[in-house]
Amino acid sequence: MKRPTIQTLSFSFALLALPILAGCGEPAPAPEPAPAPAPAVEAQKPIVSEALTAEQQAALTPDAIIQQFKDGNARFLKNDLTMRDHTAKVRSAAGGQFPKAVVLSCLDSRIPVEDVFDLGLGDVFVGRVAGNIVNEDLLGSMEFGTKVMGSKVILVLGHKHCGAVVSAIDNVKLGNITAMLAKIQPAVKKSQDFAGEKVTSNVEFVDHVAKNNVRNVQEEIMAKSPIIAELVKAGTVKIVGAYYDMETGAVEFLN
Ligand SMILES: [Zn+2]
Repeated sequence: MKRPTIQTLSFSFALLALPILAGCGEPAPAPEPAPAPAPAVEAQKPIVSEALTAEQQAALTPDAIIQQFKDGNARFLKNDLTMRDHTAKVRSAAGGQFPKAVVLSCLDSRIPVEDVFDLGLGDVFVGRVAGNIVNEDLLGSMEFGTKVMGSKVILVLGHKHCGAVVSAIDNVKLGNITAMLAKIQPAVKKSQDFAGEKVTSNVEFVDHVAKNNVRNVQEEIMAKSPIIAELVKAGTVKIVGAYYDMETGAVEFLN
């Protein structure tokens, strides 16, 4: 290795010395101000760190779960959400799951189901598909959620300004979307009794079709799943329809 010459050494010293010299004569920098004390936490809510247990699931009735959905949405509207320790909940849920309900929602990105009902990890199964329709796979998922896993409510959640419903009314044809929209068509036909203008620019008509779609899907679950129909007849499971207003965040229960 080449030894440094006197010239390179003195050049390096000059570089090092420059900032020191530049700082000479300047006043010492003011000390950092002490950090402000943390504001007092007002009425700290308890932090939920446990996922639903088998005992808690068993103790719930379908009506109590429906009430919990309503209460959760009321908290969502007030921005009074439950404090959750998600990291701890991940660990507590790892051993198994005992969700209280199955929610069938639209694919729409503006309806984060757990947020809208102030729910956490392990609380509900969520199936999402454009237009919140059912097919064999979703019915199988619902049978798994209820018959196998013990959930006691199936909540079909439609919503305002649903693009899938609008496309079904406009009879859009495109790739696999055509077959998907065909599942919403019965709701469009059912809505021909609507008194006003039956066009997609009429928000009230779109709402009417979307709510009929929710009702149709509820009936379809009963008609196409003997397993769920039996659970409903026994009073073990309830199927409810609901409608999310994305302008207000409110969920209207349809039945
Ligand atoms: Zn939608």
